[in-house]
Amino acid sequence: MAIRPILVAPDARLKQKSKPVEGAVTDEHRRLMDDMLETMYDAPGIGLAAIQIGEPLRIIVMDLAGKDEPKAPRYFVNPEIVWKSDEVKPYEEGCLSVPDIYDDVERPAHVKLRYMNYNGETVEEDAHDLYAVCIQHEMDHLEGVLFIDHLSRLKRETALRKLKKARALEA
Ligand code: ZN
Repeated sequence: MAIRPILVAPDARLKQKSKPVEGAVTDEHRRLMDDMLETMYDAPGIGLAAIQIGEPLRIIVMDLAGKDEPKAPRYFVNPEIVWKSDEVKPYEEGCLSVPDIYDDVERPAHVKLRYMNYNGETVEEDAHDLYAVCIQHEMDHLEGVLFIDHLSRLKRETALRKLKKARALEA
């Protein structure tokens, strides 16, 4: 396993659409998922899409366990949302690729998912609460969408200005 650099907005690679994993989940995909998980834990974050480390594949890792709970990694290959509720809920989101910016995003409160897990088995699952928020946020990454893209234009531009300024200071 290895910790990989996380891309930060406005990196153009974050705007690309990720490609499905064709065929079975291989050891190479599992190595990528292991790296993603280690990178996410190190950051630390609760979810990471492959494109955030520059791999344009439809793969996501997540761990929603609390600080004092045992680790509970989840892996999603080619996730699809097969149903979403009409009910929407706002939640204050952040993103490892949009550091230090937090804002409310409204999304369907409940979704039903289909994906392949670490072992390549197809799973169908209901997601509520933080799980529903997180999977929808991560699946946006697969389409090249960041949570700030859901904000008003003014808020998004302010966020991007902050990120560019932070980057200029680092350089
Ligand atoms: Zn994100």
